[in-house]
Amino acid sequence: MECAAKGTGTRCNSAATRLCTRCEAVAYCSLSHQIKHWSRHKLECDRLQQQMECVDLLNDFPFTFSCEATFQVCAKQETRCSFFSKRGLHRVGMWMHECHCGASSASFDLLGLNNGWDLSSVLCPCHGPEFLLSEQLCSWRDYYKWRRIPLDSPVALLLHWPLTIYRAAQLVGITTSNLVVGDKLYIHYLGPEKELLQLAVFGDLLALFPGVHIHIELVGPAIPPQRDGEKIIISKYPCCNEEKCVCKLASENAILGTQTGLTSALTLQLWRGFYHDRYRDVVKDSFPHLVIAPNGGIAAYSSWLPSILFLPIIARKLVILQQVA
Ligand SMILES: [Zn+2]
Ligand SMILES: [Zn+2]
Ligand SMILES: [Zn+2]
Ligand SMILES: [Zn+2]
Ligand SMILES: [Zn+2]
Repeated sequence: MECAAKGTGTRCNSAATRLCTRCEAVAYCSLSHQIKHWSRHKLECDRLQQQMECVDLLNDFPFTFSCEATFQVCAKQETRCSFFSKRGLHRVGMWMHECHCGASSASFDLLGLNNGWDLSSVLCPCHGPEFLLSEQLCSWRDYYKWRRIPLDSPVALLLHWPLTIYRAAQLVGITTSNLVVGDKLYIHYLGPEKELLQLAVFGDLLALFPGVHIHIELVGPAIPPQRDGEKIIISKYPCCNEEKCVCKLASENAILGTQTGLTSALTLQLWRGFYHDRYRDVVKDSFPHLVIAPNGGIAAYSSWLPSILFLPIIARKLVILQQVA
């Protein structure tokens, strides 16, 4: 952790090892920095304390971390670089941003929309599922089984983006059983970072929400200025690396394997800036069913605070709208 008082005056002279004993969410390099920072930190210490009590809950969030797929990295203390090298994925395509050495050379100008999995067809979900989901997915195991992928496939490392959305929707009661064909699902996605370079993987939402029109507004300071307002339509799954696979036929890729004729649609729109600043522009097109901030580390960014404080205001509006309707 960085000293929470870093950059507010005198320089930090050692590692930030002094935790705030109340919230245990922030750390300081020295007692003097802690005292100095208290006037600011006291405004958020209680909230952080409450959130830290939910840490166990967050760790159980099934789709944020895959034991099966990252087993090799954890158990053998293998570095990410060598994990990817062994699979021919080191600094390749969307995997580029998954290790430190690749991430450092990334540019936010390329959104990875045309990237494929760079894996053989048996190892990745490059086309529609064989059958529609009849039950909710509750683990990576469920997902891999449904998509017929072996558990040693690394795709979970990238698929946690769409599956976290799926899981969050599930938690607020938006499930495939209460969505009907042609429904619109509006999601506000706050603070996207490296997933902006891996947007092709969001295509899996087409399979997770069959027949639904999903609109995701990606709002955050990492969106490059020249891409502000850009709309992106994703109508396919990322392809595998086999030339003769069915995923290369546009029609096969975009529909579900069951030939049900259900077509899902996924539209992403990019908004540069902080959510509390851009909210009025974003909400013009869509009032959100779900607001999600996958990279919102609780004490990581001071700019989160106004956005977090802003959310209950929207939530209240949501309740009012429901009462009127
Ligand atoms: Zn300090
Ligand atoms: Zn504290
Ligand atoms: Zn590397
Ligand atoms: Zn639509
Ligand atoms: Zn394929």
